[in-house]
Amino acid sequence: MTDPAPAVTATSANWSSRDPWQRNNDGELLIGNRPLALVVESVGSTPCYLYDRERLSARARNLRSRLPAEVHLHYAMKANPMPALVCHMAGQVDGIDVASRGELRVALDSGMSPEHISFAGPGKSASELRQAVAAGILINIESFREIGILADASRQWGQAARVAVRINLPFELKASGMKMAGGARQFGIDADQVTNMLDKISQAGLGFEGFHMYAGSQNLRPAAIVESQLRCYELALEWRDQFPAPLRSLNLGGGFGIPYTVNDMPLDTDPILLNLNELAVRARKDLPGAHLVIELGRYLVGEAGLYVARVIDRKISRGQVFLVVDGGMHQHLAASGNFGQVMRKNYPVEVNRRSSETETASVVGPLCTPLDLLADRVPLNVAEVGDLVVVFQSGAYGRTASPRDFLGHADVVEALI
Ligand SMILES: *Cc1c(COP(=O)(O)O)cnc(C)c1O
Repeated sequence: MTDPAPAVTATSANWSSRDPWQRNNDGELLIGNRPLALVVESVGSTPCYLYDRERLSARARNLRSRLPAEVHLHYAMKANPMPALVCHMAGQVDGIDVASRGELRVALDSGMSPEHISFAGPGKSASELRQAVAAGILINIESFREIGILADASRQWGQAARVAVRINLPFELKASGMKMAGGARQFGIDADQVTNMLDKISQAGLGFEGFHMYAGSQNLRPAAIVESQLRCYELALEWRDQFPAPLRSLNLGGGFGIPYTVNDMPLDTDPILLNLNELAVRARKDLPGAHLVIELGRYLVGEAGLYVARVIDRKISRGQVFLVVDGGMHQHLAASGNFGQVMRKNYPVEVNRRSSETETASVVGPLCTPLDLLADRVPLNVAEVGDLVVVFQSGAYGRTASPRDFLGHADVVEALI
C-alpha cells in the first residue's frame, strides 16, 4: 500500500499567524497572562485541557452585545460540560440547554435559573422527564410518548410541565459539518404531525411555550444559517392558529461553526446578527411576548480551549519523525479525526518552545492503534522529550466526547484559567 498524500492542511506556523493567543519573548504561549509551562505545572500534570476564562467571556459578551433583549443566547452544554466552565458560562448567557439528567444536575448547580434551562434529546427516560417537571425547566418534546409521562408528573407535582415542541425540520442546514434535520430523523416531531402534537399537549394540560428547531452544526456559511433561521421562523408562524397558549419561546437553533484549519474562514456573524435583529422586530408584531433563542455550543467555547500533552518519546521511522506524547485520541477523539469527520484534517498544533529549527513531524499518542494520531506530518518547531505540545481549538467536544477508558490510561485534567 502506498502512503496517502501528505495531509498537511494546517501548519503550526501559519495558524499562529492567524490565532489570537499571546506569546512571550521565549516563544512560550501565554494563558491567563502566565506562561503555559507554569500553568501546566500549577494544574498538576499533563495531559490537560485548559480553558481561558477571559476568552470564554469575551466571545459571549460580543454576541450578547449585538443581540436585542428579545433574542436569548443559550449555551448548549454538551459541547463542554465541565462544571466550573458551565458555572462561568451561566454568568455570560441567558440560558443553558441540557441533554441528559447529568447535564441537568450541573446546569441547576450553575446558578442559571431553571426558567432558562431547557432539555432536549430523543431518548429521555421517564425519570428524567419527571425530574425535569419537578425542576421547572422547559422540556423540548420529541415524541408522543413523552406527553403521557409529563401529564402524570404534572398532576403529581401540581405544576404543569413547561413544554416546547421540537420539530424535525423539513429542510436541512446547508453545508453543515453535522446534519440534524431534513428527511427521516430520530430528533423531534415531523412537521406534518405537529398539529396533532399541539392538540395532544392541549388535552393533557401541559404548559405550551413554543418550538425548538435545530437544523445542524459546525457551519461556517452565514447565508446558510440566515436562511435556516428565516425558514424556522416562518414555519413556526404556520401553526399560529393552533398554539394552545401564546408562544413564549421560539428556538431557532444554532450551528455557528469555528475554523479548525487555516483553510476554514472564521464565521462572519454580521449577517446572522443582522437577521436576528430583523426577526426580533418582526416577532414583536407576529408573536408578542415571545423571545427568540439561539443555542450555541462549540462557537462559545471551542476557541477558548487548549489541549496540552508532553512529549515522552521522539522516534524516527523510515525518515519520518514521530513525537509520542502522553495524551491522544482517548482524550481528544476529535483531534484524531475519529469524531464524525469524513476526511481527517489536522487540528492546529504547536510545540511550545521557540526554535529556529522546524521539521515535519507527526504527533501520536500512547495507544496501540494507528488511529491515535493528533497531527499527521505537520511543520513544527523541533521538539525534545519533555516539551509541551498544544492542540488549539480544543474547548468543545474534547474530554467528554472521547473514549477515555480505552487502554486504561489515567483521566485528563481540566482547568479553567
Ligand atoms: C449539539 C447541539 C447543539 C450544539 O451544537 P454546536 O455545534 O456545539 O453549536 C445545540 N443544540 C442541539 C439541539 C444540539 O444537539
